[in-house]
Amino acid sequence: MISNNAWERAQEQLRSAARYTNLDHLMLAKLTNPDRVIEVYLPIKLDSGEVKVFTGFRVQHNNIRGPYKGGLRYHQDVDMDEVKALAFWMTMKNAVIDVPFGGGKGGIALDPKKLTENELENLTRQFTRKLADFIGPRKDVPAPDVNTNPKIMGWIVDEYEKNLKTQKSNLKSDEILAVVTGKPLNRGGSEGRTEATGLGGTYTLLAVFKKLRKKPQDLTVAVQGFGNVGRYVAYFLQKNGFKVVAASDSKSGIYIPNGIPDIDHVQKCKEVKGLLAGCYCVGSVCDLDNKKRLGGRDISSDEVLELPVDVVVPAALENVITKKNARKIKAKTILEMANGPTTLEADEILRKRNIIVIPDILANSGGVAVSYFEWYQNLHNQRWAKEEVFHKLRAKIESAVEAVFAASDKHKVTLREASYILALERIQKAWKEGDKNGKS
Ligand code: NAD
Repeated sequence: MISNNAWERAQEQLRSAARYTNLDHLMLAKLTNPDRVIEVYLPIKLDSGEVKVFTGFRVQHNNIRGPYKGGLRYHQDVDMDEVKALAFWMTMKNAVIDVPFGGGKGGIALDPKKLTENELENLTRQFTRKLADFIGPRKDVPAPDVNTNPKIMGWIVDEYEKNLKTQKSNLKSDEILAVVTGKPLNRGGSEGRTEATGLGGTYTLLAVFKKLRKKPQDLTVAVQGFGNVGRYVAYFLQKNGFKVVAASDSKSGIYIPNGIPDIDHVQKCKEVKGLLAGCYCVGSVCDLDNKKRLGGRDISSDEVLELPVDVVVPAALENVITKKNARKIKAKTILEMANGPTTLEADEILRKRNIIVIPDILANSGGVAVSYFEWYQNLHNQRWAKEEVFHKLRAKIESAVEAVFAASDKHKVTLREASYILALERIQKAWKEGDKNGKS
């Protein structure tokens, strides 16, 4: 029986791609296990006076191509296996998008909705102190992921800086900022980082469709998840001519078969209400009269994946496309903006049904591409305009899509298999070159 444990799935993806690449056995062994796993316990006093202990994780999967790099997730389901899988996918993704990073990931098992901002800040600062010896601009560079954001990254920089002062480090202040990416603009963040993953997904879909000679105009799209990634991918897809007809968050969703008039207003409505439900907007007015006028209806978070649309975009969490719903998917293209949204069994069903899956390690790599730009700007004391960031992002994505299609044509494999083959070839090449230079 095939397991849906994300880490077992990641290892199976590795074994399967390794068959095409003449992967050295030692290299395979290096990638089959992370370099290091860190588990820390974080006792804090809640505002109520109660004491609670949380568990934090950081997995450093591999650094052959550069410092470990990957987000921090705050979610009740975070556990070591999930973090190991996410760290492995970062190693692969960073090789596909060709940035000089290895892969890492981390998180704290908690439900952020149950903590106050003060409690979250205390927890984040304590987590940073416990990770301080293991992270750093040239060691391991965290970033935002599910339920983490620029404000949280700002706390990490602050705490890391304090810690370095006590150790009398001689890192320059701009360099210190490079310890995390996705920071607020006034703390060394890059223009365009917030939108980067969603915009990168849009560039990916446009580049793939160009290859397949499909035009975006009037192709319908449904998006699951309306956080940082979901809302921006919906926004940029709409701006580029796609008709976004549905969106959902963890509670519920909206479906307007003729197209959501303006994603921007839906975003603002969700910000105010905290929920997507009822965000039927015409201009800035969002109400149930508009629902009737637009012919909309409420849908569940799962239903969004099965709507009669051209493109489905999972942009929430892993394991949402499974053997239970893979046969019910009507879209001909899936743009995986979440990490690991498709189980192995579902992937096989989709392949047999000739559904094109644009894999996570390609589709959502725009986030880490701009994280690399942020890190680079910090280390070189530069500040790039948003247009420059977007221009460089587009070039990176188009070149990754080109390379993935070349591998897919060469080996006659899916885009997912091709992305893994490309990543493994690039990592093995870097390893062999490192060996020649006396590093291994
Ligand atoms: P986020 O916390 O900003 O948003 C998550 C969204 O998913 C929220 O709208 C939440 O309501 C929704 N959600 C949660 N459970 C759901 C469910 N069962 N059904 C439907 N919706 C649900 O997180 P994010 O940064 O947007 O990340 C989303 C995904 O994208 C994750 O898989 C993450 O690893 C991946 N990703 C994020 C980035 C980034 O730059 N933030 C980069 C690459 C990949």
